[in-house]
Amino acid sequence: MTDLQKWLPRGVEAINAWQDAYGAFDQHPSLVVSDEVLGKAFNELTERLRDNYPFGHPRYVGQMLKPPHPAAILGYTTAMLINPNNHALDGGPATAQMEKEVVARIATMFGFEQHLGHLTSSGTIANLEALWAARECHPGKRIAYSVDAHYTHSRMCQVIGVEGVPIDTDGSGRMDLGALEQTLASGTIGTVVATLGTTGLGAIDPLRAIVDLSRAHGARVHVDTAYGGFFSLIADDSPDGVSSEPFAAIRDVDSVVVDPHKHGLQPYGCGAVIFSDPSVGRFYVHDSPYTYFSSDELHLGEISLECSRAGAAAAALWLTLEVIPLTDAGLGQVLRANRRGALEWQRLLNSSDDMTAFQPPELDIVTYFATRDRMSTIDAASKALFYAAADCDPSEQIHLATYTVKGRDLAMRGHEVEHDSATARIMRSTVMKPESEAHIPAIHARLRKLSRE
Ligand SMILES: *Cc1c(COP(=O)(O)O)cnc(C)c1O
Repeated sequence: MTDLQKWLPRGVEAINAWQDAYGAFDQHPSLVVSDEVLGKAFNELTERLRDNYPFGHPRYVGQMLKPPHPAAILGYTTAMLINPNNHALDGGPATAQMEKEVVARIATMFGFEQHLGHLTSSGTIANLEALWAARECHPGKRIAYSVDAHYTHSRMCQVIGVEGVPIDTDGSGRMDLGALEQTLASGTIGTVVATLGTTGLGAIDPLRAIVDLSRAHGARVHVDTAYGGFFSLIADDSPDGVSSEPFAAIRDVDSVVVDPHKHGLQPYGCGAVIFSDPSVGRFYVHDSPYTYFSSDELHLGEISLECSRAGAAAAALWLTLEVIPLTDAGLGQVLRANRRGALEWQRLLNSSDDMTAFQPPELDIVTYFATRDRMSTIDAASKALFYAAADCDPSEQIHLATYTVKGRDLAMRGHEVEHDSATARIMRSTVMKPESEAHIPAIHARLRKLSRE
C-alpha cells in the first residue's frame, strides 16, 4: 500500500523548501495555536469522524462512495499547502496547466478530436454548464432526458428556465427509443441528454441510436457519464469489459460530463465538462476587472461558470493519472475488477432461489432482493437486510444501500409479484472497489443466510 505516513511529510518539505527561498517570516500572533489546544480539538475531530461508514473497506458495497487513491491525497494535500485557485492563471499557473493537461487526456479517452473543457466542483455543476450551453444553442427549445436520468437534469432545467421532458425507460432501465422518437417528432426538443451509467442501476442509454435520432431532428446531444465515463477504458465487449457501441458514440456528441470524484479515484470536488465544439466558449464571455492580467493565454475562469476552484483538485488528478493512467492497463484494471465482482455476484444471485437479481448489471452496480411474492414483503425484507447485515462486530459488517422501484419496474423485468404497495425498496450494491471482487462469494452467502432469517 502507498504509505501516506512516508509521503505526506515529503510534500510538506518540498513546499516549505520552495517557500523558504522568499525569506523567513514569523506567523502573526493572532494565528498561533498551541499544540495543546490543537491537540484537544483534533482528538475530538478524530473521535467524531468515527461516526462514519467504512467506505474504503471491500465489505462496504452500498453507495457510490470510496476514499481517494493515496496519490490523489498526496497531490491534493501538497498543492493545498499553496492553495492555488484555478479560476485564473494569476491564481495558480502550475495547477491551471495541469488542469488543461488532464482535461485533454479525458477528451482523448472519449475520442474527441478537439475540445473545450475544464474541471468543476461536481457533476451537478458540470451538467448545469452543459445544459446552459445547450439552451444558448437552442433558445426556446426543450431538453429531453430519461426518467432514470439523475434528478439534477430536471432541477437544472428549472434553474435555467427551460422545460425538461422526461422520456420513459425500457425494461433494462435504458431510454426508450420509440418514446424518444415520438417526442423528437414534436420538433420542440433542442437537446437530448443520454446517460451512460444511470445513478440508480448503472444502465447505459443506447447512445448510438440516440445520436442518430437526435441529429435527424436537429437536436444536440449531451451525455451524462458522471458515473460511467471511465468505463470507456474497458468498453471492448470482453468478458470483464463493457459494451463498446454506446461508449464509441461519445465521440459524436456535443458535450460530456464525467466525475473524477466517482470512478477517477479523486476526493470530492472534481467533476468535468467537455464540449466537442470549442466555439461554445463564446457563451462564457464576461469581463473581470480583478483577474486575467498575468497572461493572454486562456484563463480557465474565462470558460467556466464557477469562479474560485481548487487548484489542488487538478494537482490530485494530475498526479493520479501520472501513476494510474487512463488506459486499459491503468485505471482500466480497477474497473475490470469491479466489473468481475458485479458479474460474479449476478451469477450467484441467478443460482440462488432465496435471492433474485432485479436486472443484469451493465457496469458495476448490482440490484437484487430477497425472493418474496409481494411488494410489501420485498420492501420489508430489504429494510431488514440493510440493518441486519451491519448489525454485528465491525470485522464482519456488510454495508449496503437500497433503491426504490415501482410495480411497473418489477413487472417490466418479468418479476411476477403482487403489487400490494406502490413502491418497494430493493438492494443496490455498487461494487466500486477492486478489492471487493474477492469478497463477493462471502458477502452473497451472508446475505442469503440473513434473508432467510
Ligand atoms: C453522481 C451523478 C450526478 C451528480 O454529480 P455530483 O458530482 O454528485 O454532483 C449526475 N449524473 C449522474 C449520472 C451521476 O451519477
